[in-house]
Amino acid sequence: MTKPPSTKQLSAWDRKYLWHPFTQMREWEQEDPLIIERGKGSYLIDNDGKKYLDGTSSIWVNLHGHRHPALDRALKKQIDKIAHSTLLGLSNQPAIELAQALIKIVPKGLARVFYSDNGSTAVEVALKMAVQYWRQRHPEAGAKNSFLHLKLAYHGDTIGAVSVGNIELFHSRFKPLLFPTIEAEPPYCYRCPLNLNYPSCRMACIDPIEQLLKTRHRDLAGFIIEPLLQAAAGMVIQPPGYLKRIRELCTQYNVLLIVDEVATGFGRTGKMFACEHEGVTPDLLAISKGLTGGYMPLAATVTTDEIYQAFLGHYEEFKSFFHGHSYTGNPLGCALALANLQVFRTEKTLSQLRPKIALLKRLLTSLSKLEHVGEIRQQGFMAGVELVQDRATKAAFPLTARTGHKVAMEARRRGLLLRPIGNVIILVPPLSTSLPELRRMVEILKESIKAVTSLSQTDSGS
Ligand SMILES: *Cc1c(COP(=O)(O)O)cnc(C)c1O
Repeated sequence: MTKPPSTKQLSAWDRKYLWHPFTQMREWEQEDPLIIERGKGSYLIDNDGKKYLDGTSSIWVNLHGHRHPALDRALKKQIDKIAHSTLLGLSNQPAIELAQALIKIVPKGLARVFYSDNGSTAVEVALKMAVQYWRQRHPEAGAKNSFLHLKLAYHGDTIGAVSVGNIELFHSRFKPLLFPTIEAEPPYCYRCPLNLNYPSCRMACIDPIEQLLKTRHRDLAGFIIEPLLQAAAGMVIQPPGYLKRIRELCTQYNVLLIVDEVATGFGRTGKMFACEHEGVTPDLLAISKGLTGGYMPLAATVTTDEIYQAFLGHYEEFKSFFHGHSYTGNPLGCALALANLQVFRTEKTLSQLRPKIALLKRLLTSLSKLEHVGEIRQQGFMAGVELVQDRATKAAFPLTARTGHKVAMEARRRGLLLRPIGNVIILVPPLSTSLPELRRMVEILKESIKAVTSLSQTDSGS
């Protein structure tokens, strides 16, 4: 046996050979990376044996904790049969059983499962299906090739997903590559563009959306939206009833509703799918992150029989959906997803989650007293704390001050891993996080915000 490389050696190789996502590598190269070796429950453990609470669920994917015995077992059991074979011209048992299991739990009316590998591809598939659907099912409707989406939207990093997204920092430089879309102002109640307050506003922000649908529906294949909140925008929460109203408008104006539950799916908002809070069934549903409990890359686009039917025809009509990836329907991923759904049942994950969501709410409320906490937003087990320079004016910290990043680094020193979005500190714990672990997470969060923002006070004073 060769000796495993030392942390120092790994650190040097990382800086020499790796390119990390969403990372300024010049900065990265100057520091020692935190190298995770193992995990257990809500904890990640680095190469030197130091433990950290996983406050991001390893970027919103982990549900039942790391090294969950049932999930570990499912992986080992499947690997003894086969790791991968294709869905192109063949099928496999885990992919079949998972499709059936998913149709049982997704919003009523969804009937068919198309697999891919990640959230971005699940969105790409939905966009392509929508366009092809209109062409084949309703050629008389003309060219319905465009999409409506909210500003601040994030639906992934591939070109189609970026086209229907609108996070300036990620998207602006690729403008020339993106297809044109129609954008609408999102609800962002803390910084309401209409300067109104909920509920007296009566969701006036929907009026311009209705106007857009009225005037542009002939061009629109679909309206893509994240349900209940725009997570990557910094947990920007929609008022209750918003999604339901969007569903009604899409039906009224003959525009497909594409719901991106990549972040919100699988219990994150307290229900299996966020759509359930509003009794909404989309025409196309994109799921990924939590699908395998955070174990394997797998995604699905789930759609209605109505859409599926549009793709049926004689071979020579070429109505097939011409899309597929090398690892589509990967048996390991599907076996893990099945085990994930099984854990939801055996551990009653959703009912266990209810008191945790309530505790998280109480704990976060204690942050509202801090001088630089502008707004605390929570939807189930997803939370964002928006830090501001000045609470009265809601003036933001300049991005260059990197307040969010500093809070995350402070939290890391105290044993909690976070990944902020600009000045919004994001907390997305695994659903299995215990009450004491949750308390510890918010305690560290609070100490870290205090430490950083009291420093920034003296900074700005000097
Ligand atoms: C993460 C995310 C995506 C993209 O998923 P990837 O697996 O990173 O490609 C798409 N939509 C939403 C809402 C997400 O949170």
